[in-house]
Amino acid sequence: MADRDGKIWMDGQLIDWRAANIHVLTHSLHYGMAVFEGVRAYQTTTGTAIFRLHEHTQRLFNSAKIFQMTLPFDQQTIFNAQCEVVRANQLESCYIRPIAWLGSEKLGLSAKGNTIHVAIAAWPWGPYLGEQALSSGIRVKTSSLQRHHVNVSLVRAKASGWYANSILAHQEVSVDGYDEALLLDTDGYVSEGSGENVFIVSKGRLYTPDLASCLDGITRDAVMTIARAHQIEVIEKRITRDEMYCADEAFFTGTAAEITPIRELDNRCIGTGQRGPLTEKLQRAFFEIVAGKNPEYTHWLTSI
Ligand code: PMP
Repeated sequence: MADRDGKIWMDGQLIDWRAANIHVLTHSLHYGMAVFEGVRAYQTTTGTAIFRLHEHTQRLFNSAKIFQMTLPFDQQTIFNAQCEVVRANQLESCYIRPIAWLGSEKLGLSAKGNTIHVAIAAWPWGPYLGEQALSSGIRVKTSSLQRHHVNVSLVRAKASGWYANSILAHQEVSVDGYDEALLLDTDGYVSEGSGENVFIVSKGRLYTPDLASCLDGITRDAVMTIARAHQIEVIEKRITRDEMYCADEAFFTGTAAEITPIRELDNRCIGTGQRGPLTEKLQRAFFEIVAGKNPEYTHWLTSI
């Protein structure tokens, strides 16, 4: 990732990709006290546009607030900078990664006195779990690792440190050949994937875990909004693992994963073991929206 052409926005300036470096004694590298976003820009009928940029920028600032990090830039500057990075790298569609972290002034756990930095990079990134995953679905296994307890980690923050839990869960199941991990919360209920929210379909209704232990996903919100507009009932509630085994359909949502069908969980086929009809309908609606083909949702798109 480090050795490529392009520009990265760092602390207010666009600099060469290869020059966007930090010191090895950076506080956030040691303790995970950094907040970040994952955003996507799509090629639309009227040029490149960023999907739900307001919401992503707001979540970044909320994460920083939770971590008591005062970012040295206002929200509008970070909003504009994300557009600037896509433009500077001449990307038609891409993934955008803003991150804020604590500098290398000192390494004590007290973060007081450390400078706060912000960088934004963007690069082409196709379907996160592969093109095939979007049409055929993926094989998922429940991880032995549980998702964060709300009183251990503040999960409304999208924080670097929280992702050790995600990576451990993903590693655990991927060595056994599964595509993605499902994590349960500390009470044993379904929480989310390592980097995705989860939905199930049962008797024509859509269910997703409430927000106690999972990230308040922006794609999750988009899918709930789209489903309701299609007169599909959406219910946020606790879901058990066996409820998911018996669901008609299941899928993950996320900026990177978009809407990825789950065809199997813990070696049990979900529904017919293929992408379900409701999943396909929501996927179609979602991909039309991000491509600017549905005028009802152009307010979700920021042209760069
Ligand atoms: N949960 C986790 C743990 C994630 O990392 C992500 C990706 N940001 C999501 C859910 C989905 O969130 P969003 O739709 O906002 O990308």
